[in-house]
Amino acid sequence: MSVRVVARIRPLLKQELSKDIIVESSGAESETSIIKIPNPRNESESYSFQFNSVYDQAATQQQIFDDEVAPTVKSLYKGLDVTLFAYGVTGTGKTHTMRGGKSMHDRGVIPRLLSSIYRRARKIEKDTAGETKVDVAMSYYEIYCDRVYDLFEAPEKRTPAGLPIRDNGGKTVVVGLTERPCTTLKEFEALYDEANINRSTSATKLNAHSSRSHAILSVKVTQTTADQVRISTVSAIDLAGSEDNRRTENGKDRMVESAAINKSLFVLAQCVEAISKKQARIPYRESRMTRILSLGQNNGITVMILNLAPVRSYHLDTLSSLNFANRTKKIEVNEIENQPIFRATTKLDGVSSMSSNGTSIQR
Ligand code: ADP
Ligand code: MG
Repeated sequence: MSVRVVARIRPLLKQELSKDIIVESSGAESETSIIKIPNPRNESESYSFQFNSVYDQAATQQQIFDDEVAPTVKSLYKGLDVTLFAYGVTGTGKTHTMRGGKSMHDRGVIPRLLSSIYRRARKIEKDTAGETKVDVAMSYYEIYCDRVYDLFEAPEKRTPAGLPIRDNGGKTVVVGLTERPCTTLKEFEALYDEANINRSTSATKLNAHSSRSHAILSVKVTQTTADQVRISTVSAIDLAGSEDNRRTENGKDRMVESAAINKSLFVLAQCVEAISKKQARIPYRESRMTRILSLGQNNGITVMILNLAPVRSYHLDTLSSLNFANRTKKIEVNEIENQPIFRATTKLDGVSSMSSNGTSIQR
């Protein structure tokens, strides 16, 4: 299976004009989903890109969730890890897609995903008459300037160097990350909102922080029966804005600065290029984000949502996002399930040690 790449074009914002629309989509309902955009150097020509699906501005939050995310929940419970990430320029709808608004109608992919995870947990527990117990726990962190910060920790308590990351049996783990159990959607939402305040608090201190940090939510599902434990993780990632600052800032110092801030996205593009060209060396290790995302290295299911703005002011950045997405869709991912861990016969005894073990299994 390759990485599933779906594009979502957001509606016009209040200050945007319909005469400036340059991104066209077709086939929202059909097999071939195509996006067309003019060649910036010769507008009589246009480029076409094909993705697994394309959602236009009329697409609802519910539709994106039902079509792209709901099917992954079943796989998650079969033991597959799932990675969902939103890629795009700042202002194209990544946070709207992942987190969304407060109302039921506006809720993004993440609260809907959790709701679906809990619904399935209750069903499994009911169908097995309580034989299988499902536990859900979350971690939430951000990567800013190549440093990893726990979003359950108030910004003033953070160590500036951030948390270390390490390889653990083929998976990249963040060492010392808080893991919070959450047994209901309500509990999850309270924790998620609390952590998001930590993300936005720091945004006021550092200029445009949130659009330059990657936010990674990791939800661990543990299914325990009398004799085995199966752990799988879904990661939902709101990446930093992919705009090419180098194009707009011309001074050399500024270039170095923005290159450092956006280095991870630059490395990600290099990784994707290296993978698509089947090069032997993939530069994953050159940034923490690419190590954690491990695109094409991790087993399971990966879905990328490419967020796009329809208007001319984003033209060059939109084109570079489309080119990036075009290469990403060729990346192969192995659909390999996490193997269950067999428990010693002593009933329930192993659960706590299992879950502390599982803490390290973070993407
Ligand atoms: P990003 O996280 O990519 O920087 P945001 O999610 O903050 O972008 O979206 C930018 C603006 O566009 C916000 O005001 C958001 O409410 C609005 N927006 C984005 N996508 C949609 C959508 N599908 N429907 C309505 N408004 C949207
Ligand atoms: Mg955002």
